[in-house]
Amino acid sequence: MGNDFEFIKSLSEESIVVAAGRPERTPDAALNTPIELTSTYQAGGTIGYGRFGNQSWAALESAIEFLEAGQTLLFPSGMSAINAIFKLLPLDSVIIASKNGYTGTMNILRELESSSRARVRYIDVSNTDEFLAAIPGASFAWIESPTNPALEVADLPTVIAVAKKAGLLVGVDNTFATGLIQKPLNFGADFSMNSVTKFISGHSDVLMGSVSTKDEALYLKLQDVRKFGGAIPGPFESWLALRGMRTLSLRLAKAQENAMELAKRLSDHPNVDRVRYPGLTSDPHHKRAASFMKGFGAILSIDVKGGVKAADLACQSSKLVTFATSLGGVETLWERRHRWSSESATIPTNLVRIAVGIEDIEDLWADIDQALRTTSE
Ligand SMILES: *Cc1c(COP(=O)(O)O)cnc(C)c1O
Repeated sequence: MGNDFEFIKSLSEESIVVAAGRPERTPDAALNTPIELTSTYQAGGTIGYGRFGNQSWAALESAIEFLEAGQTLLFPSGMSAINAIFKLLPLDSVIIASKNGYTGTMNILRELESSSRARVRYIDVSNTDEFLAAIPGASFAWIESPTNPALEVADLPTVIAVAKKAGLLVGVDNTFATGLIQKPLNFGADFSMNSVTKFISGHSDVLMGSVSTKDEALYLKLQDVRKFGGAIPGPFESWLALRGMRTLSLRLAKAQENAMELAKRLSDHPNVDRVRYPGLTSDPHHKRAASFMKGFGAILSIDVKGGVKAADLACQSSKLVTFATSLGGVETLWERRHRWSSESATIPTNLVRIAVGIEDIEDLWADIDQALRTTSE
């Protein structure tokens, strides 16, 4: 992309999300990279065909490159980004993964196992001893941190370093944190993946995924997976996601502030048994998160007193907060995770995940408080 790479790299991240991924500064150049609607290109250039590349993808890729500190490829969803990485694994790989990660990922892992293409060592990724004990003989580690929806935090600097030393390929699902909060590639991971659907695009109106890597050979292999797998992003969706990314740092700052305040107030709520949020000083993951993360994110989970029925009733009783899945948008959403049959057995059935948005904190609190109180009426 246009602007000088070294100059943009020298900026603070609040400026980078605004300045990156724009066209060259030449007279009458558009400020934004246009939505490039074409299936093919005139011969003689570097792109060649619409499945191989697109300027609208490239603009967003070059912007995420700064956030994640690695060359980036876009995919049409977070799941297609994860699948592209898993496609690189040789047959009979031994995979280390969270026993309660994102449901989509759990489905991929179970499918790899049931078709005898890989073996999976399911662990608690926040238990460093358990993680390190799983490393000998393994070939790939897939680390989600913080985990969805239990908000467990892995000791990324430690476990990535040990896994790399033992020769494993390491990938991190960075969706809950984004590159603004942590940069897994700088801890030595081979891949950092984002569901761009969530915080980066930020408005619950587009699905998109990304994979970043510092390794040129892995980058080229992933590019081939995309080229020949054929799962390519749309130019319009790429443009929308980049438009959303312009406000990522503002949105995340506000949403994190709201999440922290909600976590504190919910800790004292009579209808809540437990709050999970690494920002709370009482949270078991707080110290570790504070040691290497630049924030605690905008997602928290609560165990609702009164079990499944009470949790469902609360989710159905909110008026500002929407009862829906997904996260990372400007609007606050919540849901009882076990309404999905694919949710891990290790997640409590009364756990409600709250994806905090940027609304006024008092409006949010009033709504969540009244919804929770309906459960004991
Ligand atoms: C949503 C999500 C995904 C999947 O992304 P899609 O864009 O929905 O395909 C992967 N990992 C995590 C942690 C997520 O929250």
